[in-house]
Parts: sequence; structure tokens; C-alpha cells
Amino acid sequence: MTFDVVNEAILPKRHGRELDEERLRAFVGGVVDGSVPAYQASALLMAIVLRGFSAAETVALARALVDSGKVLDLSVLGRPVLDKHSSGGVGDKVTLVLAPLVASCGALFGKMSGRGLGHTGGTLDKLESIPGFRVQLSQGDFVRQLERIGVAVVSQSERLVPADRVLYALRDVTGTLDSEGLIAASIMAKKIASGTSVLALDLTVGAGAFMKTLDQARSLGGLCRLIGGSYGRTVSCLYTAMDAPLGRAVGNRLEVEEAWEVLAGAGPPDVREVVLELAAMLLAAADVGLGEAEARQRATRALDDGRAAEWFERWVAVQGGRFKPGEFHRLAENAVRAERDGWVSAVDALAVGRAAQRAGAGRGRADDEVDAEAGVVVEVKAGAAVGAGDVLGRVYSRGRETRAAAAGLLSGAFTIADESPAPAALVLGRDEPG
Ligand code: URA
Repeated sequence: MTFDVVNEAILPKRHGRELDEERLRAFVGGVVDGSVPAYQASALLMAIVLRGFSAAETVALARALVDSGKVLDLSVLGRPVLDKHSSGGVGDKVTLVLAPLVASCGALFGKMSGRGLGHTGGTLDKLESIPGFRVQLSQGDFVRQLERIGVAVVSQSERLVPADRVLYALRDVTGTLDSEGLIAASIMAKKIASGTSVLALDLTVGAGAFMKTLDQARSLGGLCRLIGGSYGRTVSCLYTAMDAPLGRAVGNRLEVEEAWEVLAGAGPPDVREVVLELAAMLLAAADVGLGEAEARQRATRALDDGRAAEWFERWVAVQGGRFKPGEFHRLAENAVRAERDGWVSAVDALAVGRAAQRAGAGRGRADDEVDAEAGVVVEVKAGAAVGAGDVLGRVYSRGRETRAAAAGLLSGAFTIADESPAPAALVLGRDEPG
């Protein structure tokens, strides 16, 4: 019998009723086989956003999404595979450091990753800014690489969670992205299908993030943990501020360079802090016999004694990349300067992200190309004292016009006040493994 999506799903949800697992499965099946057309799927998504989606519906949707495609079985490895996911940010190069770092501490880190869209960047674009780096690996090669060096980051297979690709694209163009239930089901279905056994979620909060308040982020975290728990997976959440960009570099190769600085024991303290928090959470839930305090110590040592950097070089080489720090084409720059004396009281992540995107580092549409070398470097962070004429940030872009336009956007990112601002917390909270 065909599924009557109007009477079985759209109208009940429009009237505020809960949808059971059977109906959600029929809906997801119809989305994949085309029997539920885009206009009906969009109507249901809008009803969900307006009328709400319960925790039970969220778990049922996630399970139906997982079952819409292949599920990767990593049990051949005989060990837990760690992964980390961020709900999106500006200047977030954490995976580039965290992946080789936890592998250098003896754990397995395997990630299927995505590309950037809009003002937020994507790990694949960052990795591909390294000449030769291959992000397409077969499942067999992914597993063999994990066995060999304990770390692999690849592009998500088209065969995993095909229903999410259709629904995400519809949500993107119908104003239905921001439902906590839909976001949690979308993120977690991909993680479950890609075989992750231990997941650390970095849930970002603030102007540059999906979630504008800590309460929203906690509610998203709770739903993700519920879905993970229904599959017996370990999920921990870290809540971090994303009002300002993370670190100083925003743009693909520029971020790889900054990640390298952190791997070599230096780099911006905020990036190092988020990396160490997540490394400690993941290692403590792995099979390397460390409690969280010891895990943090071991990870700190690996950053400071060159071990993590060595692991990064090995990983990049195994995936075909040719990386030499500092060896890339530096594009022409436009500097943005302070108009007056004062203290930098805010650096708006969204404005910086948009400036980097305008410079060529990000995409407006999913099929746009990105420029590996374009981007922004923020020279001053909140709390810095500046004088009129001091450089606040730099834009790197190929064209004179894009450089000027991006510099205009970047200059709007800085707020200069008469007084020094109160220091703002970076780590806003955490939920222990569960
Ligand atoms: N990231 C995802 O993968 N899905 C969403 O719905 C939002 C962010």
C-alpha cells in the first residue's frame, strides 16, 4: 500500500500530533524512492519546525535515516573508533589537530567529514588545501589506514544516509534548518552510519553558530546523546562559545598553517584549549587505559614534544598530501585598521566568516569552488588595546574587488570600546560520556 503522506503525516503534524516510528519510516522511504515529492516533504518539515518534534520522534527519525542507506561496520578493527563533530563555527580547525593528536596517544580516530557551506568552513576543504591530499578513500582503504596509523579523515560516502542528503538540501532552501530534532537526527544518523563508537560533540553557541543560546545547545546535546544511547554509542558534549572566531586564521590553507602551529606546541591558546578538552574526553572513553586527567596530560605532552606534529605529517603523507609549513602561495592582502584608540571589545564571528567567504574561502552554494589560499587573519582578539591605525585584520584574496569587498565586511567585525571588556568564557559547559 502506498503511504498517504498528507493524511498520515502532514495533517497530523500540522494539528500538533506526534508521529510514530512507522509513519516516519514511511516518510523517509518515500523521500528516498521519490514517491514523496519535494513539495510534500517540505510541507512536513515546516509543520515539524512550527509544531515541534518530540524526543521519541527524533530518535525514530534518526533510526529511519540510518536505515535509508549503508551502515559501515568497523567491528573488524576490534577497537573503538573515536570521532568528533562540531555543530559549526568560524576558524574551527580543531579536527586537523585533534585527529593526529589522539592517534599519537594510541587511540583510533576515524572521521567522515563534509564541506563548508556559507560562512562556516568544512574540514574536507581545509585538507584539500594541502596539495595532493586525497579525501576519497574506499571503505577498505579507510579501515586499512586506521589499522596502520590510527587516523583517517575522508569524505562521506554517498551511500551512507542518502535520505539526509535530500532532506538537508530541502531544509536549506525552505527555512527549515533550525529545528533541534531535525538537526540532532541529521548529525547523529551520519555518525551512526559511519561506524563511530565514541563521539565527542563540540556544540558551539553564539553569533557564529547555529545555536544562539546555551539552553538550545544543551537541548540539542541531550537529543544527540539519546540517539547515540539507543545504538549503545558513547557520546560526550562540550559547549563552546562561538561569538568570536576560533584562533586567528579563517580560510582553508591559512587554517592548516595555524593547526600546524598548535600541533607544534604553540598557536592560539583558544584552539589549544578546545583541542585538549576534546582529546581528554575522547581518550578517557577510548581503550587506552587513561582517566581524564591523565589523558589530558598525555595529550598536552604530545603537543609539546613534537609527537602530534610528527603524526600529522605521517597522516598527511599517507593520504597523498605534500605539506611543508609556510610553503604556499600567499595572496595579495588588504589590511583593516582601527579608526580610533581603545579596546577591542568584540570580534564578530559571523562577520569574519562572511568576509572570508567573500574573499573566496567559502561557498554560497553547495557546488561552488573554494579558493584554498583565500581567507582572513584576525590580528587582534577581544581585550586587546589598539591605537588608531593599528592593523586589526588582513584579507587575502585573488582579485582586487573581492579583496576590497571582503575588507569592508571584515572592518564591520570589530567593535572598539573605551574600556577593556570583561573576559568571556570559551568553554561554557560539558556533559560527561553517556
Ligand atoms: N549539520 C548537520 O549535519 N545537519 C544539520 O541539520 C545541521 C548541521
